[in-house]
Amino acid sequence: MTTDHCVRVLGCAGAIAAGRRTTSFLVGRHLLVDAGTGVGELTLDELCAVDHVVLTHSHLDHIAALPLMADSVLKLRHQRGQPPVSVHALPQTLAALQQHVFNNVIWPDFTRLPSLDRPVICLQPLQVGDRLTLAGYTIEALPASHTVPAVGYAIWPGDAATHACWVFTGDTGPNPRLWDTLSRHRVAQLVIETAFQDADHELAQKSQHLHPQALLHELQRLRSPAQIYITHMKPGDAGAVEQDMLRLGLRHKVTLLQGGECIPLGA
Ligand SMILES: [Zn+2]
Ligand SMILES: [Zn+2]
Repeated sequence: MTTDHCVRVLGCAGAIAAGRRTTSFLVGRHLLVDAGTGVGELTLDELCAVDHVVLTHSHLDHIAALPLMADSVLKLRHQRGQPPVSVHALPQTLAALQQHVFNNVIWPDFTRLPSLDRPVICLQPLQVGDRLTLAGYTIEALPASHTVPAVGYAIWPGDAATHACWVFTGDTGPNPRLWDTLSRHRVAQLVIETAFQDADHELAQKSQHLHPQALLHELQRLRSPAQIYITHMKPGDAGAVEQDMLRLGLRHKVTLLQGGECIPLGA
């Protein structure tokens, strides 16, 4: 399989442990969706090839590797004459990055380094519903319902009119606006979070995440036949989540996403 129309799962866990990395997907070679600790799977050359990063929200498990990645590629991208890495996200997410990460306390302000006129990263605001063309892919920001402003993404390997899309929900609790939006799209693959087991449903509700029972309810609104993957399970919780899904009869149609997997885009 060529990497050009493939989503490489760099990390899909809700936290870390040996062999478990947090959310990040490499789409083709030049586009990264979220920048959790999974980014550490990339070689320096692969890191340098990333021209665009789209972020779902500001939580650490989705942005932790972004400041480190900026440091890794600063010199090489400059030497190679590459433009700044564009980081696309909601304005609130970008403001949080600027205020809490690139603030010269937690980390240097890489939006001004190595120089103000040619920094290594530049921040690009987007809004829910926006459609962008990045690295040859069409990307739409989808609604999400989380404890901080958040989005998901639909990605088409080219023109949205002629291809089916790959969808990542990002972190979200129950999200009727997502299903309304997806009813207008042909969804080939859906990567949907299920962060908690059913026994932790109160915690899931409080932190605006899904658990298998809530997932079952959500999937009833998915109209087009899609391949479904679940993501964002805590290390150590996968067995309990799988048991919950077996009990609900969900297991036959839902795959537990694994780090290292490559999903063909828009098949
Ligand atoms: Zn989150
Ligand atoms: Zn998360």
